[in-house]
Amino acid sequence: QEHAPEKIDYVFKVVVIGDSAVGKTQILSRFTNEFCFDSKSTIGVEFQTRTVTIKSKVIKAQIWDTAGQERYRAVTSAYYRGALGAMLVYDITKRQSFDHVARWVEELRAHADSSIAIMLIGNKADLVDLRAVPTEDAVEFAEDQGLFFAETSALSGDNVDKAFFKLLGEIYGVLC
Ligand code: GDP
Repeated sequence: QEHAPEKIDYVFKVVVIGDSAVGKTQILSRFTNEFCFDSKSTIGVEFQTRTVTIKSKVIKAQIWDTAGQERYRAVTSAYYRGALGAMLVYDITKRQSFDHVARWVEELRAHADSSIAIMLIGNKADLVDLRAVPTEDAVEFAEDQGLFFAETSALSGDNVDKAFFKLLGEIYGVLC
């Protein structure tokens, strides 16, 4: 499908991180509609884009997926380079994925720009009966670490757009 060429004011790189199988790829697909494989990349990362308008500026959000690299703890600094925002995802039904969030924050602090905006995401919020991470635990951690926080369901789409717009808005506020 052809789109009329539009003037892009800013490109915001956002990385999606977190343990395997928490729903990173599904969250990405919910937010974007375009698929792009970076074939030049030797680390096999993928990104997708969505163009949004914030305060009448046209912003191309370039959202990077680890493409499974996190399984081998092989997410490299190239992945984080130039990232203005991060979606740090855990699964509300898997306590371990939340316990690992601190490690992911350390990874971000080590490899990403210190001004990076971080959104903690508790995904699979539709699985209410299987919840293993109370919302309050995540709220407390997020406040402690200076992260934004949202619970989402990539399955229903609940809160996904809202979380991305919040993060992109924060990046815009810092940058522009
Ligand atoms: P990734 O490894 O973090 O990229 O995780 P995926 O996006 O591949 O998702 C892992 C599994 O969780 C898949 O079977 C998805 O269908 C499922 N999943 C992802 N998001 C949700 C969600 O919000 N709710 C439910 N119930 N399942 C989800």
